[in-house]
Amino acid sequence: MHREDRPFPCKGKHALFFSERSIDERRAVALCKPCPERVACLTGARERQEPYGTWGAETKRQRFRAINGRTIRKAAVDTVNPTTPAIKADIVRLNEQGMSRLAISQELNITKDQVIGVLRRMRGKTDG
Ligand code: SF4
Repeated sequence: MHREDRPFPCKGKHALFFSERSIDERRAVALCKPCPERVACLTGARERQEPYGTWGAETKRQRFRAINGRTIRKAAVDTVNPTTPAIKADIVRLNEQGMSRLAISQELNITKDQVIGVLRRMRGKTDG
């Protein structure tokens, strides 16, 4: 059954549940947690290999990790160049705001190793 057919917490919140912004994903996950259909919803999304959205309190990244281990991270590495000035600036800004390296990687859809690499290079420039 499609989730729009019944009055579940996600009903009418298409934009929120298909957003890829971390803040929206966290809100969607929180809405899913008390849902009576959570287990069936999560199982169905994994079986269908649902390519988008939060289902059963699991984000797209979490679902793909559960299904294919590192699929999403590999896709991110293939499509995102962390050395671009914009991404490098975002990494530095989020680091200065106190965000963890893992949270930065999730926010920017890159690997934690990429975050660490950029921060090390930046530190090397300021240390030397
Ligand atoms: S678990 Fe979440 S996505 Fe699934 S039906 Fe419930 S509220 Fe909707």
